[in-house]
Amino acid sequence: MELFEQLKELALSTGADVIGVAPIERFKDFPAQENPIWIMPEAKSMIVLGHRTMRGSLRGTEEGTFFSHYPALGLGYVNIDIVPLTARAVCRFIEDLGKEAMPIGDHFAWAATDEYGQLRQRYSVPARPGQPAPDVRLNLTKLAYLAGLGEIGWSGKLLNPKYGPRLIFGCVLTELELPASEIVAPGTVCTRCKSCASACTGGAISADESETVSLGGYTFEIGKFDRKRCELGKIGAEETEDGSYKPSKYSPFRKKPAMLPFESNDICAGRGCMRECMIQLEEGKRITNLFDVPFRRHPAWEVDWEGYNSGRIVNKTLPPNAPKPIAEANANDINE
Ligand code: SF4
Ligand code: SF4
Repeated sequence: MELFEQLKELALSTGADVIGVAPIERFKDFPAQENPIWIMPEAKSMIVLGHRTMRGSLRGTEEGTFFSHYPALGLGYVNIDIVPLTARAVCRFIEDLGKEAMPIGDHFAWAATDEYGQLRQRYSVPARPGQPAPDVRLNLTKLAYLAGLGEIGWSGKLLNPKYGPRLIFGCVLTELELPASEIVAPGTVCTRCKSCASACTGGAISADESETVSLGGYTFEIGKFDRKRCELGKIGAEETEDGSYKPSKYSPFRKKPAMLPFESNDICAGRGCMRECMIQLEEGKRITNLFDVPFRRHPAWEVDWEGYNSGRIVNKTLPPNAPKPIAEANANDINE
């Protein structure tokens, strides 16, 4: 059996669902602060492993009855427990061949750049002249695309031909040379229907404005993305005219649900970028992991807060269900 086939068998048997390889040359035009070559100068390959979140993990939020599952076992458990397991298994195999291999998860808390790609002020300096400042931050969506795991949809999420947007990624950066996976051409999965934009809880994905991306030999458009809106949408909060915050119609919670240890407050469960997109892709048979019964069994819910004659919480500084600043979040009382 060829080396890659052996790696694939190992990765799938330990919990990954898909695997692909981006030769390191595919990163040659990446900015230094997000270029993996600076992490391992002799690296030859970036292996990307995709792990599905279960369609059933979206059910509790879809029904509006069980929200804690998705950020905990749907996402957090896969990120914290499964990704290290599969990536480490692949690394062990490779290092037994005498080549270095580094397991990498979606954890870039030490990055020199913030989520917007801006350098943090007075944070870190290059350890050697000419190097990027530590830490380098990797974009796992771009990595997965360059490793042939799918195309980047209008939503900005990676859409896999089998699982659509339901993949969580881990990587192995290695000195082992492996055959390149073919890049999935834009338009293979995403129809540009823009349902992700219309169903997004935070209005974070634009339906009209786009950004041009040139990557992996293709040029394509993705919807302009407003990260701040997404962060607010994810926690189910909405800004009011007087600058305070209240629960949006997409949240049935008056207060932030406590989610330690995963520190995730995701009650959106990708209403637009994940659930609506998956519905569209399943209906159009654009993906192959299909089910006996359609995902949406009844119209999507919305909370009528006016009807409850409440929901408005006067808090000028924080959304009612926003994560607290780090220092406070470490305290035991994480409820508002
Ligand atoms: S909802 Fe439609 S436009 Fe948006 S990412 Fe999915 S397939 Fe593409
Ligand atoms: S996670 Fe929610 S708020 Fe953020 S882009 Fe997806 S649907 Fe919109």
